[in-house]
Amino acid sequence: MSRLVLLGPPGAGKGTQAKLLSDRLGIPAISTGDIFRANVAERTDLGRTVQEYLDAGKYVPDSVTNAMVRDRLAQPDAADGFILDGYPRTTDQVRELDDMLAVAGVKLDRVLEITADPDELVRRLTKRAQVEGRSDDTEEVVRTRQQVYAEQTAPLVAVYSERGLLRSVDGLGEVPEVTARLLDALASDAG
Ligand code: ADP
Repeated sequence: MSRLVLLGPPGAGKGTQAKLLSDRLGIPAISTGDIFRANVAERTDLGRTVQEYLDAGKYVPDSVTNAMVRDRLAQPDAADGFILDGYPRTTDQVRELDDMLAVAGVKLDRVLEITADPDELVRRLTKRAQVEGRSDDTEEVVRTRQQVYAEQTAPLVAVYSERGLLRSVDGLGEVPEVTARLLDALASDAG
């Protein structure tokens, strides 16, 4: 169980859980959102390219995102496993990831979906906006991100479910409780 994808709407807690699972499982958490934000902060070429999309709550074009993930997965620390947080997010990215893994001769082990009701998600993101000041946590941009998720990413749940890879976990509750549910979902074979 070492090649994992985390799916879930904005605010579901993917980033938090990806880091905790990374510590527990000893494999790197790869967050496309974190990598993009770091590039914006460091004013790299990539950062300049993606800033307008992040600020608007829209997806960065697949060509840019796919190339970045391809590079990241080729790093030695990802050879034996990884937790992808925030990728894939479109059906084109699913195909692209399939291709990257096929070339490396490996397969995804599990796709973990973190669910949460929409009111709770808005509450969390509003709170995070006050604490972290992320430019994409304003009410209007959050609404756009939720809409983009529903249109472009929610369909991935069915794709991975048909492949028998999906496990859905309730994202409500204390952080360690959710981590325990995710570890349980990794341990379970049936589904
Ligand atoms: P959240 O899941 O809370 O919306 P992320 O930190 O995962 O936040 O992503 C923030 C932003 O980074 C997204 O709104 C989008 O602009 C960009 N981004 C992250 N991952 C992808 C991806 N796989 N494809 C396109 N854009 C992405």
